Amino acid sequence: MPNPSLLILAGDGIGPEVMDEVKRIIAWFGDKRDLTFDVSEDLVGGAAYDKHGVPLADETMAKAQEVDAVLLGAVGGPKYDDLDFSVKPERGLLRLRKEMDLFANLRPAQCFDALADFSSLKKDVVAGLDIMIVRELTSGVYFGEPRGIHIEDNMRVGINTQRYTEAEIERVARAAFDLARKRSNKVCSMEKANVMESGILWRDVVTEVHQADYADVELSHMYADNGAMQLVRAPKQFDVILTDNLFGDILSDCAAMLTGSLGMLPSASLGLPMANGRPKAMYEPVHGSAPDIAGQGKANPIACILSFAMALRYSFDEGAEADRLEAAIEKVLADGARTGDLMGPEGGTPLSTKQMGDVILQALDASV
Ligand code: NAD
Repeated sequence: MPNPSLLILAGDGIGPEVMDEVKRIIAWFGDKRDLTFDVSEDLVGGAAYDKHGVPLADETMAKAQEVDAVLLGAVGGPKYDDLDFSVKPERGLLRLRKEMDLFANLRPAQCFDALADFSSLKKDVVAGLDIMIVRELTSGVYFGEPRGIHIEDNMRVGINTQRYTEAEIERVARAAFDLARKRSNKVCSMEKANVMESGILWRDVVTEVHQADYADVELSHMYADNGAMQLVRAPKQFDVILTDNLFGDILSDCAAMLTGSLGMLPSASLGLPMANGRPKAMYEPVHGSAPDIAGQGKANPIACILSFAMALRYSFDEGAEADRLEAAIEKVLADGARTGDLMGPEGGTPLSTKQMGDVILQALDASV
């Protein structure tokens, strides 16, 4: 078997800084766990625009289609704010998602005990929280036609269309059920079947897929507005939440903030299986390029490192090694390691990006 392959697109701002720590972790797995990756690197976002005049070169897109997984840092920054929409750094990201057809966006919301005080909710409501939002990413109201702003009866009318096919609902439902089987075996599907036909179809298709192939998974349905309330009332009732693009956009940000800092949040975007059985996949932290701290060695690398842990679990079936990496992070946090974004009112001296990488590597060393 050839080594699994990774394409690293570190991007802009703090992207390269946090990705440097991920590269050291990847090297550690090669040295200490006999898990060697063939790693290549390329440009995305503003960095690609500076070199090629586009936020993602065709050759980079072609490479992304060939590798087993893409690891992305972050894109964007003030330098690029005035560029034409068609070449803005974010277009590079959107092109990757679209052309790789990454229809299932996985956003975990996991609360490390040591950081439970960072949540805006009471500690006992969030301590030990571990939920996963599966958001449909390539269809729905952000893409549906007709769309636009028209004049009707001398008045402007804004139009967007919520549109889902059975096939689009089915494939993301399968992704959620498959994921639940690797976790606590529970899926809660959220839509607005009370007021939207697309919601009725969503509920029907999810139920059909469940009855046909996933009867062993516990399935419930909830209206998305109630889901939002339940997320902040009693988030631990959920395991996997399955929802569409629009509701998922909002619910995943809400769930993410239950856990504290942006510097802690990973994500995965998955597509259909490739010939080798692995899904098309891109892993990236939820945060952006953080221009306010870029180049200062202050960024928290944990979101990006946890994204690599997701790659181990979902692309390479290395769940035990993903557990090892997550446990190393849990350990250093419990021991008090903090980058600036994780400093509480008690103060102290924050670790630099590289120092956080150092202590995580030490914890990994101690784990073998
Ligand atoms: P941001 O996520 O970059 O930063 C928001 C705040 O969180 C900042 O104060 C930042 O310093 C802090 N922060 C973020 N990540 C951190 C980390 N790892 N460690 C410590 N602190 C961290 O969001 P923004 O300021 O709204 O956007 C900045 C740029 O990033 C914009 O150009 C935006 O378009 C882009 N952006 C890119 C992505 C992406 O690449 N996926 C996502 C969001 C925003």
